[in-house]
Amino acid sequence: MAVKIKINFSRQLSALTSAEREIINSISGLGAKRGERAYIVGGFARDILLGFPNFDIDCVVEGDACALAEEFAKSFGGNIVSVNRKFHTAKIKKDNLTIDIASAREEKYASAGALPIVRSSTIKHDTLRRDFTINAIYISINRGDFGHLSCEKAYLTDLRKGLIRVFHKNSFEDDPTRIFRAVRFAARFGFNIESNTKRLMQKALKDGMLKKISSFRVKRELSLLLKEKNAPEAIEIAFATGLAKAALPGIKKTAVKDLKTARLIWFDFFIYLGEQFNLFLYMLLVLLKDLSCARRKKFVETLNLNKKDTAVLLYPRSRMDKILRGIIKNIPAWRVDADELRDEQLLFLVLLAASKNPPTGAKVEKRVMDYILMLKTKKPFHSSFELMRMGFACEKLGGLTKEITGKRRGGKILSKSQEYGFLVRKLKK
Ligand code: ATP
Ligand code: MG
Repeated sequence: MAVKIKINFSRQLSALTSAEREIINSISGLGAKRGERAYIVGGFARDILLGFPNFDIDCVVEGDACALAEEFAKSFGGNIVSVNRKFHTAKIKKDNLTIDIASAREEKYASAGALPIVRSSTIKHDTLRRDFTINAIYISINRGDFGHLSCEKAYLTDLRKGLIRVFHKNSFEDDPTRIFRAVRFAARFGFNIESNTKRLMQKALKDGMLKKISSFRVKRELSLLLKEKNAPEAIEIAFATGLAKAALPGIKKTAVKDLKTARLIWFDFFIYLGEQFNLFLYMLLVLLKDLSCARRKKFVETLNLNKKDTAVLLYPRSRMDKILRGIIKNIPAWRVDADELRDEQLLFLVLLAASKNPPTGAKVEKRVMDYILMLKTKKPFHSSFELMRMGFACEKLGGLTKEITGKRRGGKILSKSQEYGFLVRKLKK
């Protein structure tokens, strides 16, 4: 991807939204008052230069980030989400923006994959603890030189050329999660991993560095990777660099095609899915699609997911296939079986059909979409008040509503009078 960088950063900063500008000016003013120099950096600076939106404002101060954050919240509002005095970082939420403020710092890694030992420092040293040059572009927000670049020009060149480059040869050993990050940014921006960086990355993978990071951090990185818009490309890069071999044992390259289809299906359904839809879980279902039951189980166990998500990933394939056959043949009873599935699994059924035979997939997609729409609308005809007037006890209403909804979805109750008949029979029992 050709990237155009406008060097006039002050102009770029003035093109931010008014909320972003206000925050940056407030931090700038606080910095001046406290005698601490402040910069924007990280994804926020990178994305300003690339012309992409980013809702996380990453700031660095040569001073006390925690104290500055507290003063910011007091003077300008916003909620302090976290203050970490050990790592000299603070997070504030203001409107729909997140502000990450960190003290410029040096980091030392006692052992591979361990969390670092941190010491306050200057931005010159702060640079070296960062993952890649494209994420270490510091733009001053100090009054004297507002908008000026405060780092090596070479980092801008990397951004312009679309190159992901680490700062030193032990970078991936210090923090192996950077392997995932390199792949994620390469896929997101269509960048290349610079050749020496790629070699270092492959060496770290060969040396088993991924085993040094906790399952929690692996899960987090995998989730970020699979939620990317370009997740299929990310998995493609993971195959090309050796990350897939180390982190996704048994998964074949054919998964890339499935993930592409899966993204399209998800996009079709997007407006019907609630906030609780778990894109990571859905993409994981697709990624693990062709693994044997035993391998899938082994992989899922390493992720340490919660019970419900684990159950979704280990749901018997034979049951899924049975429901899918019902959908294809349009046997109404499939809706009753599908009652125990989550939306992630319903979309996975569409993927299963589409990956075998696209025309059948389209038919299945339509039926599943109708079903999901119906799920959202098929509530009982009778209100809670009516049910209580009929004689149902208040504490029974939850279970009763679920039962009626199930019957409505299964097509067994189609009208209010049918529902009334069912309720009368229920009362007589
Ligand atoms: P995104 O747009 O995905 O948020 P980002 O670059 O802002 O990308 P963050 O995880 O928000 O990524 O981190 C902010 C900055 O902190 C990064 O740009 C980078 O400079 C630094 N950083 C984050 N994680 C690491 C890491 N594991 N090692 C070194 N530096 C890191
Ligand atoms: Mg960020």
